[in-house]
Amino acid sequence: MAYLTLRGINKIYPNGFHAVHDFNLEIEKGEFIVFVGSSGCGKSTTLRMIAGLENISKGEFYIDGERANEMGPRERGVAMVFQSYALYPHMTVYENLAFGLTLQGVDDDVIEERVNNTARILGLTDYLERLPRELSGGQRQRVAVGRAIIRKVNIFLMDEPLSNLDAKQRVTMRSEITQLHRETGATTIYVTHDQTEAMTMADRIVVMKDGYIQQVGTPYDLYFNPMNMFVAGFIGEPPMNFIESRVSSGNLTLNDNHIELRAVADQDVLDKYEGSQIVFGFRPESIRPALGDSGRGGYKIRCFVNLVELLGDTTNVYVNFDGFNVILKVDPHQSPSVGSQFDFVIPYESVYLFDKQTEKRIKTKSFK
Ligand code: ADP
Repeated sequence: MAYLTLRGINKIYPNGFHAVHDFNLEIEKGEFIVFVGSSGCGKSTTLRMIAGLENISKGEFYIDGERANEMGPRERGVAMVFQSYALYPHMTVYENLAFGLTLQGVDDDVIEERVNNTARILGLTDYLERLPRELSGGQRQRVAVGRAIIRKVNIFLMDEPLSNLDAKQRVTMRSEITQLHRETGATTIYVTHDQTEAMTMADRIVVMKDGYIQQVGTPYDLYFNPMNMFVAGFIGEPPMNFIESRVSSGNLTLNDNHIELRAVADQDVLDKYEGSQIVFGFRPESIRPALGDSGRGGYKIRCFVNLVELLGDTTNVYVNFDGFNVILKVDPHQSPSVGSQFDFVIPYESVYLFDKQTEKRIKTKSFK
């Protein structure tokens, strides 16, 4: 059995709302797992059931092989970091860090050593005598993380810990938490709605929607092999482009461009979807400007440029073709200008097909 096992977990709140459905997951010791999804999809509820702050309505939860459904939060050996830092405002950083240990009756000299050690790891040594209101948001969040790691537990649970920080602080704290995880080796479950945090921090990501797991996988898996339209659209920035169209004689019915599905799909797929709607997906960053190239190995598309956003390292080009608005990522030096006509190539191996009805991925020549 894995270190943490969640088997058929459900949460039905007292008002009857079914927030989490049949959640199954095995987590190995030391893994960094991220739950990601839009607000309200059940991430916090699941985390709180793991922490023992919410009871599990149905299903089983095991820690290290032992049934944990009925264990209290303390017994589970978890430490939790919340979005709101929940620091004691009238206590110094030192006292905030020491508080939990003092309550446990740990000796003063041991406390001092652990506080100093934690402060060193988190870069708080110079701030130990300050009150929380004398710290920046990032420093406060570090104290909150420090209060969790000082307890030397095996399992860290973090609920949107960076959402109160500004963009720059978030990037810094992101790498600090990842590094901390590497140093402590503690099994970590981290909740966020931010796909960039999920992609950069996780060993494995759990994508959730409406209380259901959509897919579990490494960041690489989720980006390159999304199993449905939700995951394909959620992971990646800007999101994957989707074009909905009818399949007719193995081609997508478009006005000016020609997309012959035979190049990416086998005959059985073409037969199955003949006459029905299909979703054709490609990522903004997977295209190349045609620039006189014949479009070999891909679909050559003609479009019209509506808007160009220079981001520095890349340019987002908002275009329209055959009535669809899509986004392309282009090298700033090759960027077309607004109002112009632009030809680009979608390589065959970058094409994703989805069933319009079920929104599930359809197999293609490069994805069986
Ligand atoms: P997330 O963390 O993904 O934003 P939550 O787990 O907080 O989502 O909430 C999942 C769903 O459960 C939401 O629709 C929320 O409104 C609902 N919910 C959360 N707490 C309660 C509660 N105590 N009673 C009833 N419904 C709740």
